[in-house]
Amino acid sequence: MSDTHPSEERYRTTRRVTLVGAATNASLATAQVVGGFLAQSQALIADGVHTLSDLLSDFMVLFAARKANAPADDNHPYGHARIETLATVIVGLALIGVALGIALDAFRRLQSPEELLSPAPAALALAALAIISKEGLYHYTVRAARRIDSSLLHANAWHHRSDVVSSLVVLVGIGATLAGFAFMDAVAAVLVALLISLMGAKLIWNSVSELIDTGVGPEEQQQMLDSVRHLDGIHGVHELRTRRMGSALLADVHIMVGPRISVSEGHRISESVAKTLRQSRPELREVLVHVDPEDDRTHAPSSHLPCRSELMRQLNLQWQSVPGALPLDNVVLHYLDGRIHLELHLSPENFETLEGARALARQLTRVTREVKGVGEVIVYFR
Ligand SMILES: [Zn+2]
Ligand SMILES: [Zn+2]
Ligand SMILES: [Zn+2]
Repeated sequence: MSDTHPSEERYRTTRRVTLVGAATNASLATAQVVGGFLAQSQALIADGVHTLSDLLSDFMVLFAARKANAPADDNHPYGHARIETLATVIVGLALIGVALGIALDAFRRLQSPEELLSPAPAALALAALAIISKEGLYHYTVRAARRIDSSLLHANAWHHRSDVVSSLVVLVGIGATLAGFAFMDAVAAVLVALLISLMGAKLIWNSVSELIDTGVGPEEQQQMLDSVRHLDGIHGVHELRTRRMGSALLADVHIMVGPRISVSEGHRISESVAKTLRQSRPELREVLVHVDPEDDRTHAPSSHLPCRSELMRQLNLQWQSVPGALPLDNVVLHYLDGRIHLELHLSPENFETLEGARALARQLTRVTREVKGVGEVIVYFR
């Protein structure tokens, strides 16, 4: 059921895009931090540290993508997609920690103005370089994210874009400091820190809502129900539940089928339901279909009735009073509307006349109906 090809392609794309992002961020972080020290700009250093933490997050993403792609095993029957979720939380926490460090340093300098730095014009050029490379990364990453529909790469792409905002703030801060507003470089550093922590909070929020099993929205839910409602053999669908696991979706659903069809036909119908749902939503990894012979939305009408062994014990006691009826072992049970409906199959060879067979059928039906819970009784000769 698990087709390895698309997930292999997902992994390759995720890895390539992430490696390009990591290489770009590595060069940029070095340029920003070294340049920030040489050109004396706290905002530029802050942005460089931010870029460094992006590098860390890129490696986390790469690691998570490989782990999350590992096939299901005995201990992890639903696969490993949640590793992706956990990695996202860790990256989010790291971003908040980094932001806090930068903001505290900038506040300290703002309180003692003699510690404020005075950036050189080269810092301005480095801020511009950062803007250009991060905007480029955004476009590159978002294209790949759309192609393989990866929420992880989407998050990364938007991260690159928010990095552009951060570098713009740095550009303005350095520009203003050069123009004579000495405190603006530190103010820019605080703003950068704020952006970093917002990003971290958002990553954590998304992952937590996935961990508490947020399903698809009501419209998507309706679309999924509609896609199977008119399949062959379906009398109704209800109780569709979905939940996300990394980029995968899991679903379970109840279908109503003809109340007297065989178990194997019901199973066949449930297979076509699972297949149709997976075709309509490619990210659907597992579908569990529950087959209902009757509507069980408000109550379970037949759950109080005895199972086969107990019922057969009672029936056999009754049937002993009908000469020529036993052994009777071809008995089909239908649990419907809170009663058990029986089909009794008898062999015609046992009867010399049609009249004799009819008389036995009448007698059998009468005594069978005396058993508690029994509804309609039909006797077949074949
Ligand atoms: Zn960033
Ligand atoms: Zn099955
Ligand atoms: Zn149901």
